[in-house]
Amino acid sequence: KGPDPDLVAIAERMATVKHKILVLSGKGGVGKSTFSAQLAFALAAMDFQVGLLDIDICGPSIPKMLGLEGQEIHQSNLGWSPVYVESNLGVMSIGFMLPNPDDAVIWRGPRKNGLIKQFLKDVYWGELDFLIVDAPPGTSDEHISIVQCLDASAVDGAIIVTTPQQVSLIDVRKEVSFCKKVGVKVLGVVENMSGLYQPLTDLKFMKLTDSGEQKDVTQWVLENIREKLPEMLNLIACSEVFDSSGGGAMRMCSEMDVPFLGKIPLDPLLCKAAEEGRSCFADKSCVSSAPALKNIIEKL
Ligand code: ADP
Repeated sequence: KGPDPDLVAIAERMATVKHKILVLSGKGGVGKSTFSAQLAFALAAMDFQVGLLDIDICGPSIPKMLGLEGQEIHQSNLGWSPVYVESNLGVMSIGFMLPNPDDAVIWRGPRKNGLIKQFLKDVYWGELDFLIVDAPPGTSDEHISIVQCLDASAVDGAIIVTTPQQVSLIDVRKEVSFCKKVGVKVLGVVENMSGLYQPLTDLKFMKLTDSGEQKDVTQWVLENIREKLPEMLNLIACSEVFDSSGGGAMRMCSEMDVPFLGKIPLDPLLCKAAEEGRSCFADKSCVSSAPALKNIIEKL
């Protein structure tokens, strides 16, 4: 039996891609797509040629997070053309193929695997420094499919995104062991939504009355601070939203012997940037999350 022609075609396509990075998570909603999108923006801003491939077939959020909602893919004689945010940042997602963004994609494994193969085989990326693959959560058919198609040894590695609490970390352990089994290097784990950082002046202060009502005393608090300790107005308030008493991702990484890449705080302005399809590095608004993300990307 000769070599699988699909795998040969994929290997030819991937020959022009220098680095391939998978972004994984154990659970949904932990910020995997947000991280993938911001990583792509950051690498493109560093003048690399970047491709972002969204294989989260049932919940493709990459088009929105890159500001590309409603765009369509075009065919050329070289294959399917990605949709470009800028000349050095191309994006491919099933989201571009759905006539209505509210449509549900209800596909069984083989059909999903077929599409992943087709994405890898038929998309014409041209020369790329980085191909970032935003995978669905968990370790399902799609993961095995992408690893087989790309050839695990040709993938630079996987970044795993998690939130700090135990329920999310348990699934990260499964993700790490999946990578070990299939031979994909774990580049590291990112702890997202790690603490909520807000300038003191953005906080609302509430007083609980005896009858159980909440009274907004923000103005009174801020006026007092301004009068008595004005230097406090520069402080940033931090609250640990998710329980990390188990040591969070850092402890898990040392137990599983994989690198810990860092923490990204919960930042309402990062959420807004993602909603609006913007880079959090482009303006100076994401004061708590952008430096954290930059730090992580520099470690890669
Ligand atoms: P996943 O890809 O893991 O399902 P998403 O990237 O879609 O998760 O993130 C889920 C939601 O949380 C999105 O609305 C996203 O903008 C928001 N989000 C992700 N990370 C952060 C963060 N650090 N601060 C604030 N909002 C975030």
